Amino acid sequence: MTTDPTTPESVTTQRMPTDRPGIDRPILPGERLKAQRGLELRAKSWRTEGLLRMLENVLEVGEKPEELVVYAALGKAARDWDSYFKIRRALTGMDTDSTLMIQSGKPIGVFPTHSGAPRVLIANSNLVGRWATTEHFYELYDKNKIAWGGLTAGCWQYIGFQGVLQGTFETFAAASKVHFDQDDLKGRFVFTAGLGGMGSAQPLAIWMLGGVALVPEVNGERALERQAHGLVQHVTHDLDEAIALCTDARAKGEARSVTWVGNAVEALETLLERGIIPDIVTDMTSAHDALHGYQPLGLTTAQAAQMRSDDPDKLIGLARETMVRHVKALLNMEDAGAVAFDYGNNLRSQARDHGFPGGFRLKVFTEAYLRPLFSRGIGPFRWVALSGDSADIAYLDALTQELFPDDAPVQRWVRAARLHVPEQGLPARTAWLGHTQRTRMALAANAAVARGDIGPIAFTRDHLDAGSMAHPNIMTENLKDGTDAVSDWPLLNALLNTASGADLVAIHSGGGGYAGYMTSAGVTCIADGSEETAGRLERVMNADTGWGVLRYADAGYGEAEETKKREGLGLGF
Ligand code: NAD
Repeated sequence: MTTDPTTPESVTTQRMPTDRPGIDRPILPGERLKAQRGLELRAKSWRTEGLLRMLENVLEVGEKPEELVVYAALGKAARDWDSYFKIRRALTGMDTDSTLMIQSGKPIGVFPTHSGAPRVLIANSNLVGRWATTEHFYELYDKNKIAWGGLTAGCWQYIGFQGVLQGTFETFAAASKVHFDQDDLKGRFVFTAGLGGMGSAQPLAIWMLGGVALVPEVNGERALERQAHGLVQHVTHDLDEAIALCTDARAKGEARSVTWVGNAVEALETLLERGIIPDIVTDMTSAHDALHGYQPLGLTTAQAAQMRSDDPDKLIGLARETMVRHVKALLNMEDAGAVAFDYGNNLRSQARDHGFPGGFRLKVFTEAYLRPLFSRGIGPFRWVALSGDSADIAYLDALTQELFPDDAPVQRWVRAARLHVPEQGLPARTAWLGHTQRTRMALAANAAVARGDIGPIAFTRDHLDAGSMAHPNIMTENLKDGTDAVSDWPLLNALLNTASGADLVAIHSGGGGYAGYMTSAGVTCIADGSEETAGRLERVMNADTGWGVLRYADAGYGEAEETKKREGLGLGF
């Protein structure tokens, strides 16, 4: 596992300073922007400098920086290059008591506010209910009137695959515990697919848990790139070889990860025909997007690209037909004894919209495994060393051990992450911390920044957190009180974090194939070591996780109700 070798330092260091991709001009295919390192400020404060580095970082680690795409085929950091450069200019020039407003990746205005207010407020891809359709989204997208920010792309909170790696690690660990009463995946065979920005975390997470992973990916170049980064061990074009590698490792109880370059559905149907049933089956192809993401059976990636421009409707129809077969194959696997779950990529909805609603028999991963954690405000928290110094992450890893010695899952994860997670972009760490834990962590880190032990740190999280997402087919499916689609919760979360003084707050809704499916909220705070920041960090961390606990308590989850009472959350009477 090495540092991301796709970051050609030579590109940024050997060119003239007026020709730096992503700084002086757009990034061209094959080029990378390297986020600023060091302690020198370009902006007027660490609060804006930190956010600028987070923006640069999502392009440094993103999938297609030349198109400003961070992940999931269309999730963008900014609307277009003109918007991107204007955001940079605004962040560097802004005073420390003003707020930059960004609408779907386009900066619109800077307003005088006050020093305790957020420096950046973002709304991405929000459409009025009846108009929140894929068709209307693309109509606006084609006119460059809207952009989709994914969850963490458009608000600069993505840190590469580590972000989803821990979620994947915890999800598979929980599934193994629930179904096999095992703490790891030793001797277990997991089938999933897709090595995209998110999906590429899967083979590593399964391998880290001691299991066997078969992860088909249609894009051969991408598969080799993932292999070069140490995310998957074996890449082969021969399906028989891939299956043999997996069954052999399962029989021996060895950890192994294998990618077959080909279509997930072909692999699943072949396994079924041969009666080879994995222990767990799921999927993380880009099924949310039938036009730009998911690849139909029978087409090469080049043929799909051609059809995308020549006959997009035909491509969408073919993709959805394959998705129906995909869902049916997962159901057949479940019938044959595999544990099958939906991994939040809208595959079941796409199949339903193409006339096959049966996929909803598959449980979504959040309901099946993660809800007890959300009820305690535990979720995908993360921090980023803005100076670029890996020693800061080592310091904070040690701090988690000191602050939470009895939290076994956190201890296990941090140890595993130190060993196996390669650095990608600015050094970062995810750790699923809960209510009060995040506050303690952020305050202790801020004090370390103040002492000069470490450089400034950005604290942020994925949107898939307790109080910050309404997504009836991923996050909030089948809630006890039926409030799956109520988006008041993430909207109020964003308002609360704004009132509490976060540095960046974002409200996102789905775009592309996700249009109309979700609303979520993101938050980032920069720990610059000041006392004023300590106050804001305490308020924001407590509010953000406290709101999550209250959301689940309100929906009727007993564990959340207990946490609420224990921590004195709620109305106070
Ligand atoms: P991505 O677009 O970066 O990658 C998807 C990959 O799937 C691509 O490499 C593509 O070539 C491959 N692919 C497409 N169709 C295929 C097929 N039929 N067979 C094999 N490979 C195929 O997307 P991503 O960022 O990895 O995200 C994957 C999905 O997961 C998206 O739908 C995303 O919205 C969803 N997601 C889930 C979570 C979660 O927590 N579970 C979080 C974020 C995103």
